[in-house]
Amino acid sequence: MPELPEVESIRRSLEPLLAGRKIVRAEIGDSRLTRPFAPGELAAELEGERIAALERRGKYLLVQMQSGLTLVVHLRMTGSLRHRRAGADLLPYERARLALDDGSELVYRDVRRFGTWQLFAPSELEEYLDARVGPEPLSPEFTAALLRGRLAGRQTALKAALLDQRTLAGLGNIYVDEALWSAHLHPATVAGSLSPRATVRLHGAIREALALGIARQGATLRDYALPDGESGSMQNEFRVYGREGEPCDRCRTAILKTRIAGRGTWFCPRCQRRLV
Ligand SMILES: [Zn+2]
Repeated sequence: MPELPEVESIRRSLEPLLAGRKIVRAEIGDSRLTRPFAPGELAAELEGERIAALERRGKYLLVQMQSGLTLVVHLRMTGSLRHRRAGADLLPYERARLALDDGSELVYRDVRRFGTWQLFAPSELEEYLDARVGPEPLSPEFTAALLRGRLAGRQTALKAALLDQRTLAGLGNIYVDEALWSAHLHPATVAGSLSPRATVRLHGAIREALALGIARQGATLRDYALPDGESGSMQNEFRVYGREGEPCDRCRTAILKTRIAGRGTWFCPRCQRRLV
């Protein structure tokens, strides 16, 4: 599933291609993508809109229109976006396409169909996002003290707390496991039990993991690709994720796989001892 670095990489690739472009035709062929609204209804609203900017909030891609409307795209499990010359054949699992005024088009594909497209007026957008996502971990406002506050009093596993988008925006299974390894923290540690020093380590590790992910343009495991079809290369940098049985890069102990918060979880049993 695309996480913050994957969505940010898509945003950075698409922004120069889409900003200033007018949507001349919108075709949406999947009612699950736009529910509770009919696909034709959303498509009609998009036609004629001019794109002002692309932004991101957590794992949400925000296509901001000059009119003030925002198309909020969430890729969920298997959604992806492709930018290309208009008029080519349907792509496998294509669900929607936006034809632009420069003869290009943006195509949305989704194998599992959990992705969503929603259109918001300015007054509704902030409320919608604030109810679903916490602070942006790469923003200047995200400090170790803020992280400590978000984790305080929580009896859940640290991994579960970090996967909760209301704790922090944009983390998923890959970057949580990588950050916890860097911070020497066991994923099952009680979230509210972290010492101030451990919280500082975790804060730095989260930012480093996400920054590396962006620098490598995301991790391509199955469905994720950049809008030109190229792969990211973060998968070549994993320290623990998906590396069960391989030696830890720090201590050579074999990486273990377990299940926490219902998710496959990889960690080094020697570097990441459980605190509580
Ligand atoms: Zn180790």
